[in-house]
Amino acid sequence: MRYTSTRDQRVTKTSQQAIKQGISEEGGLFVLPHLTDYRIALQDLLGADYETIAQHVLMTLLPDFNTASLKKAIHLAYRQNFSDKRITPIRKVGDFHVLELFHGPTSAFKDVGLQLLPQLMRLALDLEDRIMILAATSGDTGTAALQGFKNVPQTGITVFYPDHGVSPIQEQQMLTTTGKNTRVFPIAGNFDQAQSAVKALFTDTGFAARLQAEQVTLSAANSINIGRLIPQVVYYFAAYLQLVNSHAIQLGEPVNFTVPTGNFGDVLAGFYAKALGLPIHKLIAAANANREIADFLDTGIYDRNRPFLKTVAPSMDIQISSNLERLLYYKSGEDSAYVAMLMKDLAKTGRYQVRSDVLAAIQADFAGGFATDEQVAEAIAKVWQQDGYLMDPHTAVGYSVMQQYRATGDTTPNVLLATASPYKFPRAVTKALDLPVSGDDFSLMKQLQQVSGLAIPANLARLAGMTPQPKHVIAPAAMGTAILDAAKEVFDDDSRVRSGNNR
Ligand SMILES: *Cc1c(COP(=O)(O)O)cnc(C)c1O
Repeated sequence: MRYTSTRDQRVTKTSQQAIKQGISEEGGLFVLPHLTDYRIALQDLLGADYETIAQHVLMTLLPDFNTASLKKAIHLAYRQNFSDKRITPIRKVGDFHVLELFHGPTSAFKDVGLQLLPQLMRLALDLEDRIMILAATSGDTGTAALQGFKNVPQTGITVFYPDHGVSPIQEQQMLTTTGKNTRVFPIAGNFDQAQSAVKALFTDTGFAARLQAEQVTLSAANSINIGRLIPQVVYYFAAYLQLVNSHAIQLGEPVNFTVPTGNFGDVLAGFYAKALGLPIHKLIAAANANREIADFLDTGIYDRNRPFLKTVAPSMDIQISSNLERLLYYKSGEDSAYVAMLMKDLAKTGRYQVRSDVLAAIQADFAGGFATDEQVAEAIAKVWQQDGYLMDPHTAVGYSVMQQYRATGDTTPNVLLATASPYKFPRAVTKALDLPVSGDDFSLMKQLQQVSGLAIPANLARLAGMTPQPKHVIAPAAMGTAILDAAKEVFDDDSRVRSGNNR
């Protein structure tokens, strides 16, 4: 069982190699062929805790890892870094269920993948390896990746975020991260420019040679890395099993998951869960006003030739949903030449159209929709007033699209993925509730706490008094140099970062 590339089926890698490398040489993403050959037996997992479910899913999808090491890695990631012992608790809200993914150290769902990825990376590294992790972030990945990788031996991490393109809280989280191996740069550009530049550096052989001279190789912390994506498959199983254990559904009964979507990683993890046998009827991908992915799921045409919009859900302000490439691979019958052609079209013209049979296969599993900022505000206010549940703007995008979808008549039970704590985006939430909007985000947090009675997560409360490092905004074209400088500094003091045997 080997991973291959979405763009070149001649590529074969073990899962450890795929995690270490992040992205394939020719720019494709690593994928596991014949996904539906693997099965998770749900009845064996009834009553199991999160770590046990994680072991089953990871042993299935990452078979070349040593079982005992994997178990230990999972334990290190989840034993004490989440504020709820279920890790991803399910909550009943009105006539649907919310899957809360924000109880980790940075209060967004990225923590679920990024607490485990560094542990998997350590297991995949050889003694001599020195890895610089790159992350382009729309806010939450950067913060969670910095937390996950800080002070991890043999690794450095460099994060790029769009200046003025993340929330003040997210920026404060990134600029106050400690750790000798962490570097953070705002760039003069948007997320897609940051992500494109990062992807280009991965396939730039000249750049690789300059890093090689420092004995450093690159890897990725974005959901383009399967080591980040596969841990996200676990919570679909954990959610379903919680519903069965609480008798909300019967074992085998199908459910729908609605997923606030940007880079298409989270919802793709749901597709993996379905392929492994989880009874999912539809995966509903919810976009904000940057609605490329919603239009694609409707029409089969992906077209990013439109203005980039800044919305109240900044972590989803993304025009190129990278992980869609993996879905195209599976739904085209694992045709890497076809995927390579579509991706070439996208790079050249900003647009591609899939064959009708591919679209039909996608629509069998997925529905899509989008919500405007106005709809997001309405959703936050409505669910608060009706059900006493406070949603962050990303989750509210999901709610709005879930309701649009339900209006089409599908009565399957619904699980909405809640991707961030409302306290991470206090300004948008305050405005939506029609409360006074004065003062900085931290005073808005306190006001929200008084109104809602909901505790502010400790990691966010702590941020208020911290002094951020100074900002150095750089141009996208200067990212390569920034990485080289970071690599030299981080790996210069070898004794510190290289721990020796870490197995
Ligand atoms: C990253 C993020 C999303 C989008 O997830 P993708 O995997 O990129 O589709 C949604 N909501 C929040 C809060 C996020 O941080």
